[in-house]
Amino acid sequence: MKFDLMVVGGGIVGLATAHRLLEARPQLKVLLLEKESKLAAHQTGNNSGVLHSGLYYKPGSEKARCAVQGLQQMLAFCRAHGIAHDQCGKIVVATEESELPRLENLWERGNANGLLGLRKLSPQQIKEIEPHAAGIAAIHVPQEGIVDYPAVCEKLGELIRQAGGEIKLNTRVGKIVSTADGWTVITSAGDFQTKFVVTCGGLHADRLVRAAGQMPTAKIVPFRGEYYQIKKERQSLVRHLIYPVPDPKFPFLGVHFTRLIHGGIEAGPNAVLAFAREGYKWSDFNLRDFTESLCFPGLWKFMAKYPSMCGYEIRRSLSRAEFTRSLQKLVPDIREDDLETGGAGVRAQAMLPEGKLVEDFHFEEARGIMHVINAPSPAATASLAIGAKIVEKVLTQLK
Ligand SMILES: Cc1cc2nc3c(=O)[nH]c(=O)nc-3n(C[C@H](O)[C@H](O)[C@H](O)COP(=O)(O)OP(=O)(O)OC[C@H]3O[C@@H](n4cnc5c(N)ncnc54)[C@H](O)[C@@H]3O)c2cc1C
Repeated sequence: MKFDLMVVGGGIVGLATAHRLLEARPQLKVLLLEKESKLAAHQTGNNSGVLHSGLYYKPGSEKARCAVQGLQQMLAFCRAHGIAHDQCGKIVVATEESELPRLENLWERGNANGLLGLRKLSPQQIKEIEPHAAGIAAIHVPQEGIVDYPAVCEKLGELIRQAGGEIKLNTRVGKIVSTADGWTVITSAGDFQTKFVVTCGGLHADRLVRAAGQMPTAKIVPFRGEYYQIKKERQSLVRHLIYPVPDPKFPFLGVHFTRLIHGGIEAGPNAVLAFAREGYKWSDFNLRDFTESLCFPGLWKFMAKYPSMCGYEIRRSLSRAEFTRSLQKLVPDIREDDLETGGAGVRAQAMLPEGKLVEDFHFEEARGIMHVINAPSPAATASLAIGAKIVEKVLTQLK
């Protein structure tokens, strides 16, 4: 049997793409391939569970557009399918004078991106929202919230199957070979024929480009983000979401406090280089992944440009006291023994050979194939909008 579209990757971006295609053209034959035994096994299932609103992103960028549209689409999806979510709002807090211009910049970006209900907060107003947070100024972002992304993925999977699509788990894509009228996708569970391929491989995005005989313009560098859980008896220190003002040089938002949709408060994630693309602990080591990272000149240039930041992240990862100090900037009452080791996620961050991080969502296309190369945060929030964008492109080629 020949498929019209084959999606590689059962994270939220791949699932949203397959779902959007079947919504637009229910008669098409769609197959989604995932190497793990369950959906959302990597970035999607190990993230902060936050619904971002588009505050941080450059106006006009794909991130800004897809986050703003995607948030509305994700909220509508959760309402329609009874998926746990809460638009609880968040505050972004400046704790030092030097952060005020950057906070002002976020205010301008948020307004330019059309966010609703943004409010500047004085120290007194911060306390009204988060009684234990400290700061000299803040922005309240009422549209943000929290959600159960694995449940979103399960529902997307169910809808894909109901619409006649197929999902094959435990199926690793090895090669994607061009044929006269499409592609043969060679996998650990046999070969499949398709007219069009979309790869949404997250931490393996660049490898899937190579698997199709093409050269990726960027390399995926895995940055692990580690979390702590706040002990139950101290969870009253945080009501909703408390974020720092991020450093615009990096795509990561800084360690923050997040209320989880099914209860509990998490603190994190930090950002340390992982020794394996799916390396959730310091001890996870993969020779191929590690050698590839070390042989990539972009990583050396990046580390040479930001040596103190890289050193600090390693120290903070190895020292709970250091991690606590960065949390105390936001919530001074938090103590080291309030923290319990939590989980971790690994970010698939695309990096250019000159050591620059790819900021925006990034796609690469050739005839009959499209690769999602860079889909970091807020791609979970934005996934339904990203899927719709991909489908628009696919349909120009799939007659
Ligand atoms: C620590 C952390 C916190 C984050 N917090 C948030 C947040 O709060 N809100 C938000 O919006 N975003 C957040 N993000 C970002 C968000 O999680 C990702 O942008 C999103 O999950 C990307 O989805 P994806 O489908 O592209 O990738 P993934 O979820 O990683 O899925 C890719 C899939 O492809 C599969 N795959 C790869 N290679 C192959 C192959 N050869 N054959 C078959 N299958 C293959 C993998 O097994 C995987 O399941 C966070 C990310 C991290 C890491």
